[in-house]
Amino acid sequence: MAKEKKLVESITSMSEDFAQWYTDVVKKAELVEYSNVRGCMIIRPNGYAIWENIQKELDRRFKETGVENVYMPMFIPESLLQKEKDHVEGFAPEVAWVTQGGLETLPERLCVRPTSETLFCDFYSRIIQSHRDLPKLYNQWCSVVRWEKTTRPFLRSAEFLWQEGHTAHATEEEAEARTIQMLNVYADFCEEELAIPVIKGRKTDKEKFAGAHSTYTIEALMHDGKALQSGTSHNFGDGFAKAFDIQYSDSQNQLQYVHQTSWGMSTRIIGALIMVHGDDSGLKLPPRIAPVQAMVIPISQRKEGVMEKAASLRDVLKEAGIRVKLDDSDKSPGWKFSEQEMRGIPIRVEIGPKDMEQNQAVIVRRDTREKLVVSLDELAEKAKEILDCIQKDMLARAKEHLKEHTYVARDYEEFKKIVAEKPGFVKMMWCGDEACELKIKEDTTATSRCMPFEQEQITDVCPVCGKPAKTMVYWGKAY
Ligand SMILES: [Zn+2]
Repeated sequence: MAKEKKLVESITSMSEDFAQWYTDVVKKAELVEYSNVRGCMIIRPNGYAIWENIQKELDRRFKETGVENVYMPMFIPESLLQKEKDHVEGFAPEVAWVTQGGLETLPERLCVRPTSETLFCDFYSRIIQSHRDLPKLYNQWCSVVRWEKTTRPFLRSAEFLWQEGHTAHATEEEAEARTIQMLNVYADFCEEELAIPVIKGRKTDKEKFAGAHSTYTIEALMHDGKALQSGTSHNFGDGFAKAFDIQYSDSQNQLQYVHQTSWGMSTRIIGALIMVHGDDSGLKLPPRIAPVQAMVIPISQRKEGVMEKAASLRDVLKEAGIRVKLDDSDKSPGWKFSEQEMRGIPIRVEIGPKDMEQNQAVIVRRDTREKLVVSLDELAEKAKEILDCIQKDMLARAKEHLKEHTYVARDYEEFKKIVAEKPGFVKMMWCGDEACELKIKEDTTATSRCMPFEQEQITDVCPVCGKPAKTMVYWGKAY
């Protein structure tokens, strides 16, 4: 028994040390293993299967909007990266360089892509000539490299997986519409699949992407009250087009610059899944994204007929379209329960000799631990209902948490007190001056998360400087 409890006992509790809890879950749920390369992670099957489901669903949603996938080289010649000034300055501190190929020193060093705007721009300058070539709606699934000083699995790593969409349009309006459209794709995906509510808005100039005209973001709130930027969508205007000479002839045969966008979501979102839903027993996955939705666990599995019955329940659930596994290992039921909970599998189905006598099984919800006795005649139907219910309840709980941890500040003293004492988002007006934004960061370490689309007029002046307020901002400490 002592050995059985070990799996859970070795997790630090969230309230004691949230950062350590996160690291423990990532390790114990077997999502990630550390590698020999500093800051790079090995994503294990349990973690990669989550990413595959994210990828599958996002990809489906992208394609519904007309996006096509391509694949670009992973190296960028230095001269290409230098073409857009703000962009190169923004990324220079974290770029990895290749200076040698085989035994030869390269005539021009190559950067390992930190993001691929420059490659797409170069590509577009070759393939776009006429208005008939527009729009171009391309996306790629790949990994990128950013030489980060401090790293944490999923949240910040030297190499990570993501998708980056890059589009080119004839007009400014079209580009802006696409930027918002993709932000909405991300927001809907987070709510509907990951049960993570997000705040949609625009980044301040200080926080926007290097080289972008405007950056839009979805911000989620983690269990510890810190924000996580979960997806971004940028409108580049014609800045990159001018730097890379991407022109098309319009219907009057006049040369025009294209307007571009880019948008991305990465394996970081798995960090959000862990930190929004998890608890002291481990991961809690929303059913729609969970690689395994139900684990069948036999009780007294050596008793006659139990294992066969458990296997038949697995088959029934599988037949009904549920992603199900049977734990037929020789571990004890208690150990199997802990493992299923640690991995965040939404339901387990317990079946033993007594249940068989009564033609029933016990379904246990991972999110609430509620036990539900279900007749075997309607097992699949009930399991589906319960999974739907878990998905809804998880979103509702996350929304409640977001609401409870969003505060309003009317003056700067109040703001500082909230940031110091109550982790979460703080809504406060802002004059639009970067000096005030910097002062807030210096005084409190909170940063502007976004200027939300849903605006409120809390005060008429900026509480930091007293000048007229221009916009309401969500502020918070962030990952
Ligand atoms: Zn101000």
